[in-house]
Amino acid sequence: MTIRKEVEAILAHLGVPATTGSLTVRTPITGEVIAQIATITPEAANKAIARAHAAYLEWRNVPAPKRGELIRLLGEELRTNLEPLGRLVTIETGKLLSEGHGEVQEMIDICTYAAGLSRQLAGLTVPSERSKHRMMETWHPLGVVGIISAFNFPVAVWSWNAALALVAGDAVVWKPSEKTPLTALATQAIFERAAKKFGGVPAGLATLLIGDAKVGEQLVDSPLIPLVSATGSTAMGRAVAPKLAARFARAILELGGNNAAIVAPTADLDLTLRAIAFSAMGTAGQRCTTLRRLIVHADVYDKLVPQLKKVYGSVVIGDPGAQGTLVGPLIDERSYNAMQKSLEEARSAGAAVTGGERIPTANDEAFYVRPALVEIGSQTDTVKRETFAPILYVLKYSDFADALALHNDVPQGLSSSIFTMNLREAELFLSATGSDCGIANVNIGTSGAEIGGAFGGEKETGGGRESGSDAWKQYMRRATNTINYGTDLPLAQGVSFDI
Ligand code: NAD
Repeated sequence: MTIRKEVEAILAHLGVPATTGSLTVRTPITGEVIAQIATITPEAANKAIARAHAAYLEWRNVPAPKRGELIRLLGEELRTNLEPLGRLVTIETGKLLSEGHGEVQEMIDICTYAAGLSRQLAGLTVPSERSKHRMMETWHPLGVVGIISAFNFPVAVWSWNAALALVAGDAVVWKPSEKTPLTALATQAIFERAAKKFGGVPAGLATLLIGDAKVGEQLVDSPLIPLVSATGSTAMGRAVAPKLAARFARAILELGGNNAAIVAPTADLDLTLRAIAFSAMGTAGQRCTTLRRLIVHADVYDKLVPQLKKVYGSVVIGDPGAQGTLVGPLIDERSYNAMQKSLEEARSAGAAVTGGERIPTANDEAFYVRPALVEIGSQTDTVKRETFAPILYVLKYSDFADALALHNDVPQGLSSSIFTMNLREAELFLSATGSDCGIANVNIGTSGAEIGGAFGGEKETGGGRESGSDAWKQYMRRATNTINYGTDLPLAQGVSFDI
């Protein structure tokens, strides 16, 4: 069966209505066209946003634990469809089958989390300074949440936002990446099934808008959308953030990373090697949390780096659906060209590059590369920029303070790791003077976060937090309530105003 036929079968199985239109969808596995689908017009997008707003006005009256039931049902539907949706993720993004399945598992996990959360959207009761007064805070639904997502996590990012937003009492409007619309259509069909089982879900509560950046801009500009959660490049964030700020809308920005790991002299090198391999080469270097910079102590450099080179030279590259493959394709030619440009710049700066070459296949439009290991003397501008491809820059250090300084001396601040058995170094790395990232790990790699923690990063990564911990608060508005159950009217701060 051709991939196109397989895609048609999966979409039919998941109940996605067949469409045809101007958006060409390709699989990076072979580069071949797998679908032509319709995009939304600006007028229809505006109508859909208005419908989502009407849905929110209804949905906010449904008690939160009941809203949680919808998300529980969504989790069940996802469980039932993990296989086909996971396979579709692999076909559309080129990530390994286990990662395609893992992405759907992540959706299921956030549904479980959000269903529980629906009974815990609790506010504080705060002691009042006034007699016979009670002060408390209440969390209310916020409105329509706009979700803009990137190609590399085509469905999990929607679920991180949608599961929380829907239990919070919001409606959601989703603009997925134009490179991965089929997984979005499939997810929407799965949501519709859960909604049908639930019964009485207002039309438009979860809306999908297929289109390019212009549709994303419509979400950003709509006065009916008080919060936009946007995942993608820092360039996208730079375009989106000022517009949201200008209309005082909230933003959750999940942008580019340039993640580093420090390998200290006491590191468990076996474990470190495995962690680096997955973090740096996994998903063909196309995770926001991909390990891009390795800062290795001089004492272990000559032991670790040759071992790494061996792994880089032998890692199995090819069809991400095939058993044994560890590195699949890049998303497209543009990504390949960006990788080659960065490697060329590194070479000009005197770096020694291992790997990075294109692996020929029968398909001219598929872009497979050997991951590149780049030994470089200093942190050049190229190293400081995120290239969304499997390039690992390796730097040497002797003094821990220098390693930390190098680590933090990039514009991005998403994920970070230290490999050490030295408690002082580990604690320093996690302390206020250590890693400046939103995620800081000890003895595990930079990628592969769990949904229970808040996910996101600092600086040019955008400052947003999604998923676990108290991320739900962003999808709600907080009201502080003071109730006077006495007969006097004492004013705060002892102010008197007798009339
Ligand atoms: P991209 O910036 O090209 O596109 C992301 C999304 O933004 C797409 O849906 C696109 O249509 C939309 N978009 C682009 N410009 C827009 C604009 N001006 N207004 C509104 N919407 C706009 O990113 P990509 O190539 O799909 O994904 C790769 C990038 O995403 C990398 O930089 C990666 O680090 C980042 N990423 C970050 C996270 C995170 O959580 N921090 C997660 C995944 C990916």
